[in-house]
Amino acid sequence: MKIAVFGAGLAGLSAAEELARHGHEVVVLEREPSVGGLASTVKRDGFKYDLGPHRFHTTSDEILNFVRSLPDVKFSELNRVSRIRLLDRYFDYPLALSNVLTTMPIHMGLGMMLSFLGEKIRGVFAPREQKSFEGWVLSRFGRGLYELYLAPYNRKLWGIEPSTLSADWASQRITVPSLAGLIRETVFPSKETVRSLVSTFHYPDGGIGNISLALASRITEMGGSILVSTEPTGIQRTDTGWGINLKNGHLECEKIVNTIPVNDYTKLLGSILPGEVHEAASSLKFRALVFLTVLLNGEIEPSDHWIYTSEDRYLFNRLSIPRNFDKDAPSQVVFEYSCQVGDRIWNMTTDELFESSVPGAEHLGLFTADMVKGVDVKRISHAYPIYDLGYAEKTAVVLDALENLSGSVTCGRQGLFRYNNMDHSIEMGKYAALEIMGKASVKNHFNWDGSTWADG
Ligand SMILES: Cc1cc2nc3c(=O)[nH]c(=O)nc-3n(C[C@H](O)[C@H](O)[C@H](O)COP(=O)(O)OP(=O)(O)OC[C@H]3O[C@@H](n4cnc5c(N)ncnc54)[C@H](O)[C@@H]3O)c2cc1C
Repeated sequence: MKIAVFGAGLAGLSAAEELARHGHEVVVLEREPSVGGLASTVKRDGFKYDLGPHRFHTTSDEILNFVRSLPDVKFSELNRVSRIRLLDRYFDYPLALSNVLTTMPIHMGLGMMLSFLGEKIRGVFAPREQKSFEGWVLSRFGRGLYELYLAPYNRKLWGIEPSTLSADWASQRITVPSLAGLIRETVFPSKETVRSLVSTFHYPDGGIGNISLALASRITEMGGSILVSTEPTGIQRTDTGWGINLKNGHLECEKIVNTIPVNDYTKLLGSILPGEVHEAASSLKFRALVFLTVLLNGEIEPSDHWIYTSEDRYLFNRLSIPRNFDKDAPSQVVFEYSCQVGDRIWNMTTDELFESSVPGAEHLGLFTADMVKGVDVKRISHAYPIYDLGYAEKTAVVLDALENLSGSVTCGRQGLFRYNNMDHSIEMGKYAALEIMGKASVKNHFNWDGSTWADG
């Protein structure tokens, strides 16, 4: 079979690798000039950084062994070091009750516990709705922790009010289920490690992008093609499968594996899909990220891999220090700015972004302006699927239609509009390939629900 794979992130590359290994002809179409998608490492002009800190961990031995078996992927095992900067203090991340109570001013700690008790009493008489992030978090943590950290951080990350954000995000991302859970975990630490609390992770020497580069080498060694800087502009049905128009040519194939954003894929399919699918797909929105990397003379003091910054005094929502998890990285700090394509942050110039970061960096004791050797900016349009209220119903309409589209399998973070990890994308790619070969199905293999945990 000849199969076109849309997107050369981990999902697309894993699908192509599996198909090529089974003797099929694969052509991967990637819009960017290089492979890797979100799990790429930028290397230019003395800079070397990932698109946000990426730690590899998985519960699947099969996926771990597969990645380990890739040429040139040499994993180091590291212990996570990450904190939250708040009230001019550092709090452990993930949150630990003893650390919260001993770090925050005593009156705030008392207020937090009282608001939690108040919430428990309220829950008996007037339980909060559980559909929104706000209701879910308030009922489990109380207003104190919500107003102090969880609401401001999520407002900044998502750009929408927590009352309009789905509770699915909270259940996927918040590391302990409630303040009561936090207390229990402090007094009686459990032997079983919740995945989100996993503190060790793997990191490939040379940068997270080395996993994709190794997959790409394997594909080309087996005869597959990867066309970078190549974008499909339309898709038609043909007698034998599909015709794909490209910006610079045309391609015929029997089947398609899609991993590009689901709403872009439905647009390419045009009248092959009914109007209600296009309507649902066009309402699915992604959050963008801008990365500003500052290259420095001299060492950076904190040993954190990354630090969350929820307060308004910092325009960035997180920063990472690559050298603390990649020994070959130069001295640099990577700032992440969460935004929408076309908004004020997205349109800021390099100078504007840099000027906005310096006071925060100085305040945090990271560097002073005279240490700066250079700056680099990278923008990515599709970083996070936005789980607003109603996203689940809209996603189901689109994914059901794509599920029934013969000769095409959709998977990956962008393809399924799913907040997931690297290992999930790799596994999904493999199962998409098996589905194309009639041996398995992505949907049956992945039993996703709102509580499937993800990292970034
Ligand atoms: C800031 C951040 C931190 C993260 N941290 C972690 C972590 O610590 N651990 C972890 O496991 N996961 C982490 N993740 C998640 C992880 O990066 C993703 O789940 C994974 O890389 C997604 O792979 P994918 O192939 O599904 O999607 P993508 O990587 O998004 O790949 C899609 C590909 O399609 C291409 N494309 C898009 N449109 C077109 C088009 N029209 N035509 C052709 N090509 C197109 C894109 O350029 C891209 O290469 C993090 C994500 C972010 C954003």
